[in-house]
Amino acid sequence: MDLLNTLVDKGLRRELPTRDEALAVLATSDDDVLDVVAAAGKVRRQWFGRRVKLNYLVNLKSGLCPEDCSYCSQRLGSKADILKYTWLKPDEASQAAAAGLAGGAKRVCLVASGRGPTDRDVDRVSDTIKAIKDQNEDVEVCACLGLLSDGQAERLRDAGADAYNHNLNTSEGTYGDITTTHTYADRVDTVQKAHAAGLSACSGLIAGMGESDEDLVDVVYALRELDPDSVPVNFLIPFEGTPLAKEWNLTPQRCLRILAMVRFVCPDVEVRIAGGREVHLRSMQPLALHLANSIFLGDYLTSEGQAGKADLEMIADAGFEVEGAGEVTLPEHRAAAGGGCGSHADADAGCGSQEGAGCGSHADAGCGSHQGGGVCGSAPAAAATVTEQPSDARTDLVAVRRRGAGTDLAPNA
Ligand code: SF4
Repeated sequence: MDLLNTLVDKGLRRELPTRDEALAVLATSDDDVLDVVAAAGKVRRQWFGRRVKLNYLVNLKSGLCPEDCSYCSQRLGSKADILKYTWLKPDEASQAAAAGLAGGAKRVCLVASGRGPTDRDVDRVSDTIKAIKDQNEDVEVCACLGLLSDGQAERLRDAGADAYNHNLNTSEGTYGDITTTHTYADRVDTVQKAHAAGLSACSGLIAGMGESDEDLVDVVYALRELDPDSVPVNFLIPFEGTPLAKEWNLTPQRCLRILAMVRFVCPDVEVRIAGGREVHLRSMQPLALHLANSIFLGDYLTSEGQAGKADLEMIADAGFEVEGAGEVTLPEHRAAAGGGCGSHADADAGCGSQEGAGCGSHADAGCGSHQGGGVCGSAPAAAATVTEQPSDARTDLVAVRRRGAGTDLAPNA
């Protein structure tokens, strides 16, 4: 297919595809999905080889959020039966992180629900970062605490944070449909603050909220413009008790096309499969490793993932290898620009183009989008919870997290 040959050539040269080319990837048929995966896989292998970076989520503070992000199980008015607890103590968070690191993760993502941290919260998280780094010298720590005020990113950096996550989640044009309590511009501002402070920026999206192909392309091009080092791709987990509970509109093939499009538009960036991997890709997860070079190990913020052991077996069976603590995630040209963890370049270097985004959208897959259910585009954020599900909804695959952080049970890692 000419389209795919063109996109491979551009990806190998780090050249931006046209919007029409990105849209055409999303419009390919299921019959062509293996060709699409093979093509984007060439770009993935050029910049990341066969390495898979493992990230581990620690939900520092769960539920009870005053914001109204429609996709989120922790949102204002959520009826989702999730764990609710306030700040974990530094030693509790460090214990949870240790389980993920023992399981093979090299990055710990510290996530807290809420609009954004108070200065006291930044102190708490700083203590937690220190506790984790005291125990694990090589660990990368990413904070995901919502919208940042002036000076907070610098304080997190000084406390040892390597990265900050704040997701854009969806296109600017549809943002107001999913959230009314803050704006798309607020999110961009926090990504820019993180970047300006020298933190490695992590910012991604949530697919499956009722958005159009154009919306998906819009948000991915906006991310490319912000130039984060990592882009988490969440697939909406339509949690019961949230406005987007009936938004079951993803297929495994659609998820693969979305990941391929992200890879072509952001060829040399860490593309991470985030929340919804098990629910929407299902038995096609191993194919997605040919597109993304990063996943979360074990459980998500408010939902359970497959067993950490199954994640590791899947990576090995598919012919990939877990990225080691000593390996630099990003390609040399990006790491040298001061952007990424692994390189920990001068924090004030300003990474040329790398901006960042992160959290703020706790997509249940990772910070940045404390997802857990919600829809967009088609449902106003303030919409009443819808309980009627489409007949092909895989609600059986959505398991609320009942273990790990905030419980007495061992974490899944
Ligand atoms: S995504 Fe974050 S800010 Fe939005 S409702 Fe969920 S926890 Fe609150």
